[in-house]
Amino acid sequence: MKVNSNVLDRQYQKYQKEYNDSVLRTLKNGYYVLGPEVEAFEREFAEYIGVKHCVGLASGLDALWIGLKILGIGSGDEVLVQSNAYIATVMAITMVGAKPVFVEPDEYYNMDVERIEAAITNDTKAIIITHLYGQPTSQMDRVQKICKEHNLYLVEDCAQSHGSEYDGKKTGTFGDIGCFSFYPSKNLGCFGDGGAIATNNAEIAKRVKVFRNYGSEKRYYNKVIGTNSRLDEMQAALLRIKLRHLDELQAERDNLVNKYLTKIKNPLIKLPQVADKCVSVWHLFVVRCEKRDKLVEYLGQNNIQALIHYPIPPHLQEAYQDLGYKSGDFPIAEKYAKTVLSLPLYIGMTDDEIDYVIEKINEFKG
Ligand SMILES: *Cc1c(COP(=O)(O)O)cnc(C)c1O
Repeated sequence: MKVNSNVLDRQYQKYQKEYNDSVLRTLKNGYYVLGPEVEAFEREFAEYIGVKHCVGLASGLDALWIGLKILGIGSGDEVLVQSNAYIATVMAITMVGAKPVFVEPDEYYNMDVERIEAAITNDTKAIIITHLYGQPTSQMDRVQKICKEHNLYLVEDCAQSHGSEYDGKKTGTFGDIGCFSFYPSKNLGCFGDGGAIATNNAEIAKRVKVFRNYGSEKRYYNKVIGTNSRLDEMQAALLRIKLRHLDELQAERDNLVNKYLTKIKNPLIKLPQVADKCVSVWHLFVVRCEKRDKLVEYLGQNNIQALIHYPIPPHLQEAYQDLGYKSGDFPIAEKYAKTVLSLPLYIGMTDDEIDYVIEKINEFKG
């Protein structure tokens, strides 16, 4: 038996006919960029999340940096971000010329809400909360309160959390903006690149729409210096199909996760926990193991591919050496980077495959 980590073709096969039909319909329509499919998807996704507006963009990274730009964040400003963030979140901050200020994560791998206030300075303008691995950040109500008290914008990075909930509300509805990615391996993934900004603020939505299209509202009249970041019609048409099936896909994912949670029994493996009032969408199933590197090697010998999200925290990346951090500056993020491991989890994973992974994990002796 061989088990890989990201098996995406089975997800396509599940609704193959519907996907094929939607692509053909789009090809025949004659609209390929910013047409009826994008408009329909924006409406349907906003409704699914529970926000008033959604604007389709070319990627999750674009959603983050364009969002920051529209909020007026730039040079001289500080933005709080968790120290175990995915690199895109940090790059969005530095792309607009602002400075990332790292806050250590809690035991659920999200920003530790208890540590936020100590990191706020006079230059802090925003907090980016990533709902990492599909698990919503706990105490979003407190995060909102802190932002209000300190006059900060709240940006949610929902690239891994389509549909996850805190206290009955979906992620992406708590902040000034919610940033989504539709990269193929995400829970709501398209078949190429895509992203979106969700917001309840009509003015923000309008400005993002203008910005994504060269800063023009009326063709060839440019109001602001914008960019080209548009979700294309084909991807929007495909996303509309997947969105219709997202709850079904989630149920399948939850089933697999329940197997992992109830059947993995090995004292060397620390299973993920779900915080109070949180519903995770399990973008990744991340365990921790002190002998992680040995475990990866052992699984590899048994033809099981397990990936590390992520092996190097942003403050230790070569790209960010100018920030001047060193090993030991963010010990929790560094510990996670050395011990986390994502077990295979994908739509279409068979009982035999997951049972095999569980069996091998349980046999691991360190
Ligand atoms: C995937 C991802 C992004 C970036 O999305 P792209 O569509 O790849 O640009 C940003 N943040 C997080 C947490 C992600 O997982």
